[in-house]
Parts: sequence; C-alpha cells; structure tokens
Amino acid sequence: LNDVEHLACDVLVIGAGGAGLRAAVEARLAGKTVIVISKSLFGKAHTVMAEGGAAAAMGNVNANDNWQVHFRDTMRGGKFLNNYRMAEIHAQEAPDRIWELETYGALFDRTPDGKISQRNFGGHEYPRLAHVGDRTGLELIRTLQQKLVSLQQDDEAAGEGEAKLQVIDETTITELFIEQGKVKGAFGYRRGTGRFMAIAAPAIVLATGGIGRSFKVTSNSWEYTGDGHALALRAGASLINMEFIQFHPTGMVWPPSVRGILVTESVRGDGGVLKNSEGERFMFNYIPEVFKAQYADNPEEGDRWYTDPDSNRRPPELLPRDEVARAINSEVKAGRGTEHGGVFLDIASRRSAEYITERLPSMYHQFKELADVDITSEPMEVGPTCHYIMGGIEVDPETASSKVTGLYAAGEVSGGMHGSNRLGGNSLSDLLVFGKRAGEFAAEHATATEAPKLTDEEIAAAQTEALRPFGNDGENPYELQAALQAINGRLVGIIRKAPELEEALAELEALKPRIDNVTAVGGRAYNPGWHLALDLRNMFVCSVATAKAALERDESRGGHTREDAPGMDPEWRRVNLVAALDGGEVSLTRQDVPSMTPELLGLFDTSELAKYMTPGEYRTEAEDA
Ligand code: FAD
Repeated sequence: LNDVEHLACDVLVIGAGGAGLRAAVEARLAGKTVIVISKSLFGKAHTVMAEGGAAAAMGNVNANDNWQVHFRDTMRGGKFLNNYRMAEIHAQEAPDRIWELETYGALFDRTPDGKISQRNFGGHEYPRLAHVGDRTGLELIRTLQQKLVSLQQDDEAAGEGEAKLQVIDETTITELFIEQGKVKGAFGYRRGTGRFMAIAAPAIVLATGGIGRSFKVTSNSWEYTGDGHALALRAGASLINMEFIQFHPTGMVWPPSVRGILVTESVRGDGGVLKNSEGERFMFNYIPEVFKAQYADNPEEGDRWYTDPDSNRRPPELLPRDEVARAINSEVKAGRGTEHGGVFLDIASRRSAEYITERLPSMYHQFKELADVDITSEPMEVGPTCHYIMGGIEVDPETASSKVTGLYAAGEVSGGMHGSNRLGGNSLSDLLVFGKRAGEFAAEHATATEAPKLTDEEIAAAQTEALRPFGNDGENPYELQAALQAINGRLVGIIRKAPELEEALAELEALKPRIDNVTAVGGRAYNPGWHLALDLRNMFVCSVATAKAALERDESRGGHTREDAPGMDPEWRRVNLVAALDGGEVSLTRQDVPSMTPELLGLFDTSELAKYMTPGEYRTEAEDA
C-alpha cells in the first residue's frame, strides 16, 4: 500500500471526452474540487474524432426548426424506444449548450448573415448540425480543454492553479469503491508507471464512452472496452437496452491494423458504388419494399440522379445505413465478399482522379497512407464497422444519476436517450446537455455529503485484483480478446438469430474461466498486455449483456436485427431490457418504457404513432389530453 497514490476531491469525473469535460466544468463552476481521469492522453477521446457536427435546433438555416421538430426526429430515429424525457430535455437544451460553447471560445462555421451555420444530416428534418468544417469534435474538445485551463487559474497566486481542478491522463480506473449503496471513490493505475491510485470522492461521473473494442471491426479506438458500463454494473447500477449497437456500413477492412476506420458516406454521395467479388453492383438486390418508390431499380437511372435528382430516383447505395450494412453483410456471408471479408467501394472507375482528390482529399490520404491503395485508380475494400452503442447505464433523465447513490453517467456510456438507433450529430449534443447536468447534480450531491474515507482493506483488495493477471498461468490477453471479438463478430453482429445467440452465450460462458485466468507478463511500467488483461473482464460482461438482451428481444428494431424475427413488434416497443449483476452473473429484467405525455404525443400524427404503438397507448393518452 506504500506504493499507492492517495487523492481526494468532491467530484471525480472518469473520462475526458466531451461528456466528462462538460461535467467537470459544471462541477468546478459550482465551487467543487474536481479530478478528471482519462485512460488516454488528454484531448484524445472519441469526441475529437467527430466530424459531422452537433445537432441543435437553433433554426439558423431554416427558421421552421425548433425543439419540437428535433424531438420528433430523435424519437423517430430511435423507433420510439427512447426515454422520451431525455429526448425532450436534449432537444430543448442543445441550442443553449452550443451557444454557450462560443462563450467559452469555440467558433462554429457561419451563415452568410453571421449566424452559426447548420448542415443537413440523415434523419434530421431541417439543417441542424452546428459544425466546424469536418472537424467539429476537435473544436469541441479544444474549447472545453481551454475552459478547464481557465478554471485552473483561481489559486495561481498561491502557486496551486490546479489544486481545485486536476486532470490526470493516461490513467485507468479499474474499480469503484461502494459502501452501503453509495459511491465513495475509485481505484486505478497510471499507465506509464503502473503506480496505483486511490481517489476518495462522494460523487462520481462516469463518462467513459463506448464498447466498440469488443468487436474486431470497429471505428472505435483502443480504449473503448466498456469500462464505465462494467464499473457501473459491478457497483450495483443497471444497464438498459444493450442489444442496440450501431454498425456503420463502410469501414476499412484491410490491412488489419486499420480495420474498421470510417470511410465517409460522402464517397457514395459523390458517385462511389458498392460491388461484390463478381463485379456485380449488388445494392439493387436489396431495396426494401418500403423504399422502392424513392430508389432507382437500375444503374442507368441511379447514375442519372447525380446530375438530375428531380427526374430520377436516388441510387440504392444511398439507402439508410442499416440497410446498406445488412446488404454488405449478406454478400460476404454468401461468399461474394473480397479476400479480406469486405466488398468493393469503387469511385475510381466512375470519377476522374482530379474530382476524387478535390472532393475526397482525406479519404484519398487515408487509403494512400494506411492501406497503400490509390482510390483514384483502385477500389476500396470496405465492410460494416461497429460504431456506437445506444445501450448504457440507466440514468434519471433530469439528474443523470444512476441507481447507485452518488454515481452519475453521461455521454455514450449512458443509455435511453437514443432508443434503438442514434441519429448522426445527436451524440455531440447529448454529451453537452447531459454532461452539464451530470456535473451540476454530482456537485449538488457532493455538497450534501460528508467526505468519504477509504479503508486500507478495500484499497488492498482492489490492488490484489489489479495484480491478479501477474499471478495467473493462463493465456495471453490478445488471444482472448481476439476470441471474444470473433464470437461477437460471428454471432452477435449486424444480423442475429436465436440459435446463434444461444451459441454466442455458450461460447462466452466457455471463455469466462480463460478470461479469469488471463496472464500478464513483465513489469507494471508501460505494459499494454497487463492493461488489456484488466480490460477483458469489462468487454466480457458487456458482451454477455448484449448477447442476452439480443436473444430476449425477438423483434427487429434500429440497431438490432433478428433474421428470425423480422419487423418491429409494438408490444416490444413498450419494453426496456434491464441488465444487472446478480451473484456475479448478468441478469435481465423487463421494464416499461415510460409513456410520453399527451403534449408530446400530440406532436405526431396518429397514423404515424399507429405504426409503432399498440392502439390503447396512443389513443388513450391522446384522449386523456
Ligand atoms: P468519449 O469522447 O469516447 O471519451 C471517453 C473518455 O473516457 C476518454 O477520455 C477515455 O480515455 C476515457 N476512459 C474510458 N475508459 C476509462 C477508464 N477505465 N478509466 C479512465 N478513463 C477512461 N457523433 C456525433 O454526434 N457527430 C459526429 O459527427 C460523430 N462522428 C464520429 C466519428 C467517429 C470516427 C466516431 C468513432 C464517432 C463519431 N461520433 C459522432 C460519435 C461521438 O463522437 C461519440 O459518441 C462521443 O464523442 C462520445 O463522447 P463521450 O464524452 O461519451 O466519450
């Protein structure tokens, strides 16, 4: 225990992406002492990778936009499984959170009359995404970092600028300390030295992002191993709707080191087409009945659309993301994939080299530098990539509080806001809106709570657990991660069916003792094998929660497609699947999705509600109004 660094604060924020930084700002502004912990380097979180923008109904480009329309779009996108109150708060508060960022020093792109510019994006009725070119996330993180630095100046005169707001990066939290159902601190290690750290805090905000690394092919970077989801579960909190995972249709598939990195939808928007290994432009075989009126059924008409969209239907390569992802998946499963398990995305044979390098400069460089592929003369190999998890920690919509006293969650790690499918741009606004609320209510809780004390026994137990892989005689963590990813990719991916999900659960069960016995070799300093060994149990428990929920929900909705249960079932729309730990095992219970208020139901046509809800639900509620 001599080797453990002891710290204390009022509000501990775990994660330094947009949600964590916004929470930290709010808690510090409320007068609390704050520590922010980040697994990766400060400034390197997923938030920084976001390109498209942040959705907020400011109405700058189309004055018809307002929070009600944004709310409606979000509920439609989530197929009405969203926590309506979160979607309502999000739509109402997002504009203020964007304007506020400008008061912190952000500068968004402008309309000709000087307002914050907004762009169109899938599922949003009006241009709504506030953006900074194609690097909005970078501006968001840069601004929040700058705001944090400005809040670290209050004790500058005493030489303690950071005394009340400290950022500790390259540090991983492995345990939360809980006493009588309340949080009292966290335990972790510095990645560089391996030195342990125990932080006492009466309030904790989890803002650790997603779970993407449980899949082999993902747009997520190395640190997204579901740590916050698993920490919450082990602390006694619950996760909701873990079956809903968003797969983006086009990620890179080759070489292995870059597998999953996003290939922008603009490639298809600018004329790129998808082909299988037989050279067939296969998307024409995958136009669902409901979209037949809007999509061309032959290449000639599809091609004419690019120059004459008014007289022709759009090409099927531009169907919604889930449709394209499922089509690619089917081609590969049918043996018509590329050598590396993807399909071809070809723009080289359709546009001049000048056009491609001018319109898609970053894609050109991405493929040239990472894959040695010249996209002006060769096709790209692409395939679906795990991108985002809609499921997450169950939180109170007003306060972002989990079921555990003093434990809050915001951003991608929380659940409910996006229902079964997230609209592009709604994550950046989500993390600002609920990051602020989490910081505010965590600060309020800290004010009303005595400073906790950590005991030597609990710190020693967390240390023993963290060191366990060094004493084990099992397998190497990389092999076990590959085995876990293979199960998820093969059996819990884009298309699911009951027997495969049962197989996944059996295979995960068989993997458990191997993960429990995972082995780390070498010392504690700079040891990524040891780090991964500790992350594995988090990926494991999230994978079990996802597979169990996917087996239970025998319908298809948003990011969950069951081949053996196609179509949405209105009865299932009323159900949240809640995962908790029961004697160390993931248990699932069903919970009612909260009913929308009559005012909010009134924003939709009855004919639309009828597509999603059971008749009693909307009629009764509407009549009550
Ligand atoms: P993150 O930004 O993911 O940050 C998580 C933080 O937690 C990191 O600091 C990490 O190091 C830390 N952490 C994790 N585990 C631990 C641990 N155990 N201990 C300590 N720290 C830990 N969304 C949009 O709205 N618009 C877009 O245009 C858009 N584009 C995207 C492009 C890409 C390539 C990707 C991958 C995502 C995109 N998204 C977009 C989604 C969006 O960027 C993310 O959902 C969002 O940024 C998540 O923010 P967050 O604050 O919840 O977490």
